[in-house]
Amino acid sequence: MIRIAIIGGGISGLSGAHTLEPHRRAGTAEYVLYESSPHLGGVLRTEHIQNCVVEAGPDSFITEKPWAADLCRALGLGDQLIGSNDADRKTYIVVRGRLIPMPDGLMFMVPTKILPAGLSPLFSWTTKLRMAQELFHPPRPAAEDESVAQMVERHYGSEMVDRLADPLLSGIYGGEAANLSVRAVLPRFAEMERTHGSLGRAMLAARKKMPKAANKPAPPLFTSLKNGMQQLVEAIVPQLNQSSLLTNTAVQSIQREAIGWTVSAYPDGRTTGLQSAHFDAVIVAVPTHAAARMLAVAGPELAAELAAIAYSSSITVVLGYDREVRQNLPPGFGFLVPRSEGRRLLAATFVHNKFPHRAPEDRALLRCFFAAKNAENIWQLSDQEIVNLVREELQQILGLQAEPQFARVYKWKSAMAQYGVGHLERLDRIERLRQQLPGLALAGNGYRGIGVPDCVRSGQQAAKQLLVI
Ligand SMILES: Cc1cc2nc3c(=O)[nH]c(=O)nc-3n(C[C@H](O)[C@H](O)[C@H](O)COP(=O)(O)OP(=O)(O)OC[C@H]3O[C@@H](n4cnc5c(N)ncnc54)[C@H](O)[C@@H]3O)c2cc1C
Repeated sequence: MIRIAIIGGGISGLSGAHTLEPHRRAGTAEYVLYESSPHLGGVLRTEHIQNCVVEAGPDSFITEKPWAADLCRALGLGDQLIGSNDADRKTYIVVRGRLIPMPDGLMFMVPTKILPAGLSPLFSWTTKLRMAQELFHPPRPAAEDESVAQMVERHYGSEMVDRLADPLLSGIYGGEAANLSVRAVLPRFAEMERTHGSLGRAMLAARKKMPKAANKPAPPLFTSLKNGMQQLVEAIVPQLNQSSLLTNTAVQSIQREAIGWTVSAYPDGRTTGLQSAHFDAVIVAVPTHAAARMLAVAGPELAAELAAIAYSSSITVVLGYDREVRQNLPPGFGFLVPRSEGRRLLAATFVHNKFPHRAPEDRALLRCFFAAKNAENIWQLSDQEIVNLVREELQQILGLQAEPQFARVYKWKSAMAQYGVGHLERLDRIERLRQQLPGLALAGNGYRGIGVPDCVRSGQQAAKQLLVI
């Protein structure tokens, strides 16, 4: 029987435990999951306020990546999965204080329909000319990694970086296009440039190749759960061995022994009285900055590589309004704010439009997002001050003056990994160093995908890796 410690009770660690559970029942494995906070689920947290489903962390996951939805189905939540209301999908970009809809045919930031992009007030004539010229870009041999901003600028110019690439990536990674690795964050783009040169032509070619499902509507872009993302946590936890789940237990170090590993942690939320336990193997499923601290002695070189992966902090603010606000808000999913607008708010989602079951018909639910420097600059403010600031920005952008019926502020310190230029090379070095420490597996959002589906997969893979040692 193999004894495994899982460090971190977010969705990555829980997915690892769920993969180990049948082996525990069969008597071939045993696990203990350590979670420093009182809650399991990490950043997956949902509140139910005045009949609204309020997401503190992620609100959904992308449908194209199957691992989270597959896990939901395995947990019996298949009938609870809901898709985004894509028929009403419209996202605005704030340009000089006005809301401009993103034109039809944009695939991420790549225009695939000439007319809507050509007529859109979102782009200047210079950018429109660049879009036309882009179609003639020759294939480019694979070069060094570069930032998303560098690549997009080479194809479409700096306005495209400012108005689309940067706001879209801020909404996903909480980071800047100038710092994020194109190979790690948009690997398809790097490949399309190598094979086709033009991203526009490559997108069109890919679309032509897609099998046409007769009379079948396209799957929704985003998937969520009727009762919110925490429903996934509430379904997974009861299926695990309860006495294996140690909340309020912060791991301080993981030490390699002649055989196996020693995990040392403070139990019951204490900061004294370190307790140690022995395991054959360990899954470290915490953000890489926390993993680096635990592994500082066991693997100093590995710890240095893990510590070098940057993380950004974010703040979500959810506001509930009455029927009148709902009637007067523009249609669509919400808006993104380019950095050049000089605002603090990065994005706002009109949650009541994006998903069904999120708010009663007579309610509007807005979710506002701050990240990186914009979040750090307001971190010290009280919740009320942050709500006031959000209301000021919403008034200026949407003309929204109404008093919210409720407001909640959620702060997430260093929770979103930033895949910087050279991230994939760093992952290769991490993997080599990890292999020198038998019985160690790594999972979480610092490696090969920040979204919930990638985290589910990383936890599952880490568990499978250890089951074969
Ligand atoms: C505000 C926000 C919005 C997001 N929106 C989306 C979205 O819409 N769609 C999407 O797919 N993804 C989204 N993401 C990303 C995604 O939710 C996360 O990347 C993913 O949930 C991370 O899961 P995890 O288990 O790897 O990490 P976490 O959820 O961070 O869990 C790690 C756990 O480890 C614990 N821990 C830390 N240190 C220790 C220690 N020393 N000892 C024991 N335990 C420890 C922590 O308390 C925590 O519970 C969002 C993230 C944030 C923050």
